[in-house]
Amino acid sequence: MKALRKWLVVVAAMAGTGGYAGIGKGEDLRVVVIINNQAGYADAVVAGAMDVSGRVFRQAGVLVTWQEAAEGPVYDQGADLLINLARAAGTVMGIEGTGFAAAPVDGRPGYLIWVFRPAVDKVLDGRWLPVPRSALLPKLLGHVIAHEMGHLLGMNRKHASEGLMKANWHKAEIQLAYQGKLRFSEDECEKIRLAVRARNALPYRAIHEERR
Ligand SMILES: [Zn+2]
Repeated sequence: MKALRKWLVVVAAMAGTGGYAGIGKGEDLRVVVIINNQAGYADAVVAGAMDVSGRVFRQAGVLVTWQEAAEGPVYDQGADLLINLARAAGTVMGIEGTGFAAAPVDGRPGYLIWVFRPAVDKVLDGRWLPVPRSALLPKLLGHVIAHEMGHLLGMNRKHASEGLMKANWHKAEIQLAYQGKLRFSEDECEKIRLAVRARNALPYRAIHEERR
């Protein structure tokens, strides 16, 4: 239980695999994300998942910085998003119940995301692919995180008929996730850039704003 409530400390994984041509050409779109590993995942699993979701967003032209969590309340930290990896099962929502993104109804930027480990485990147990769980888990988790981040960065309440923003993932999506090919569509990438651009233009980060 010692990992419970432990704040994972990781710095941005900036190494990328090509991706959106806009990066490095004048536009600097960033989101700062805190991951709170309350689910007891091994550090390597969370680090792998962050690498995966960071790459997905890099392909959309956005650099994700995984912020080191300081001591004290998260609301003092001024990040854009807070991702809680939870041991609990959520109610039925998100991709097979794996995640949930909370969006304020008053127009303020949302920041809170939950990922439910039991539902992620259930997808893993579905034996969609004949690959080791240890190899699939970080990739699956990373894409679940990217999907939920997508909801707070341009795709509020919207799901797609294919790809990363589908409401339900089956073998095809799990396979693409494993191959690192489950991505946002071009249209979604544009929405993400618009949303991140708007956030970056604000004089505060969403989590800071929440405590005011
Ligand atoms: Zn969703």
